[in-house]
Amino acid sequence: MSRRGILFVLSGPSGVGKGTIRENLLADRNDIQVSISATTRTPRIDELDGVDYFFMDKASFLLKQSRGEFLESATVYSNMYGTPRDFVESNLLKGRDVLLEIDIQGAMQVKEKMPEGVFIFISPPTVDDLLSRLCKRGKDSVESIEERMASCRQEMSYMSDYDYVVINDDLDEAVKKVEAIIIAERCKTRNINLE
Ligand code: 5GP
Repeated sequence: MSRRGILFVLSGPSGVGKGTIRENLLADRNDIQVSISATTRTPRIDELDGVDYFFMDKASFLLKQSRGEFLESATVYSNMYGTPRDFVESNLLKGRDVLLEIDIQGAMQVKEKMPEGVFIFISPPTVDDLLSRLCKRGKDSVESIEERMASCRQEMSYMSDYDYVVINDDLDEAVKKVEAIIIAERCKTRNINLE
C-alpha cells in the first residue's frame, strides 16, 4: 500500500511546550520527518546550526523568502522563521509523513496551502500556567514574557481552526495524545491506498 505522506502541524502559543512534546515524540520514533526551520534568531547556548534551526542573517532569509523557498514564514517576537518548502514537499511526495512545529501565524498559512494537513493545537491548561512556564524556563527577558503573554491571549482564539486540541498539563499524556492522533490519521481510509 502506498500513499502520499501526511503533514502534521504542531502549533500553539510560544512557550506552551510544543518543542518538548516534539522532542519526546521523536525520541521513540523514526517514522516521521521533522522539518528544520530557518531563522534569523541568534542561536541559544545549546543550539546547533542545521540541527535545531538553520541560523542565518536577515538578508539571506529575505533572499530565500523572495525566491519562494519557504512554505510559510512569520515574524515571531522580532525574529523571522520559515519552513523550507522543498523538504516538506519532497518528503510528502515520497510518502513520508512530515512534522512541523511552528507558530500560529505560520500554521494558518500552511492551512491555506495544504488544508489536507492535520493541525494540532497545543494549549496551556490556563494562560497563568503559561506565564509560570515561561518564567521557569528562564530563557526570556521580562519584556519578552510580557509580549508572549499578550499574544497568547489573542492566539488562543485560533484554537477552533485546528483539527485537534491537546492540553499540555502533563507532558507524557500530551505526547501520548499526539501519538494517538498520528496513529489514527494513518488509519484513515483516505490515507490508505486501498487498490
Ligand atoms: P524559538 O525561537 O523559541 O525556538 O521559537 C519561537 C516560536 O517560533 C515558537 O512558537 C516556534 O514554534 C516558532 N517557530 C519555529 N520555527 C518556525 C517556522 O518555521 N515557522 C513559524 N511560523 N514559526 C516557527
